[in-house]
Amino acid sequence: MLIIGVLDLQGAVSEHIDITKKALNTLNIKGKVINVRSSEEASNCDGIIIAGGESTVIGKLIYQTGIKDVILDNSIPIFGTCAGMILLSKKTDYDQPLLNIIDMEVSRNSFGRQRESFEKEVTIFDKKYPGVFIRAPSVKNVEDNVKILSKLDETIIAVKQGKNMALSFHPELTDNTFLHERFILDLLEK
Ligand code: GLN
Repeated sequence: MLIIGVLDLQGAVSEHIDITKKALNTLNIKGKVINVRSSEEASNCDGIIIAGGESTVIGKLIYQTGIKDVILDNSIPIFGTCAGMILLSKKTDYDQPLLNIIDMEVSRNSFGRQRESFEKEVTIFDKKYPGVFIRAPSVKNVEDNVKILSKLDETIIAVKQGKNMALSFHPELTDNTFLHERFILDLLEK
């Protein structure tokens, strides 16, 4: 049975739990969605979702709890949204603890003051998806092994490297399970 964890150290996680359960149902896949607060809980997971919140705080706690070591030692695939995207990167415009999993550089709060929060339809995996952006980061640059999944104008807002996926926006605040389904289907691949 597939176990998907939602990192629960800071920030709102219940929406991610709900939509992940819904995605499993839609796919008709047997699975369990658990909250991850400790390294032990992390070690039970086939994949982990890191949601929005304050990336500096989440980063510190990931290191302190040892969850970072469990993720990196076991190459657990990560689906990072918003603050989660920041944590997946190797570099940002701040000095903060990161996971360095996707070979990309990220800009925090990249969409400026007036547009700190907005909604805009984006195209991803050739489909339209409602993008909810909240003080969202964007991707400044990627290395060749990183696949760009979506851009807003010229700005990169979604990427994938192996089974790891990062989004600038918040899929858990929509009722569209498509992107969670993509992450889950990847976890089933050998
Ligand atoms: N701006 C936040 C950060 O830098 C991320 C915002 C969010 O997750 N909604 O950590």
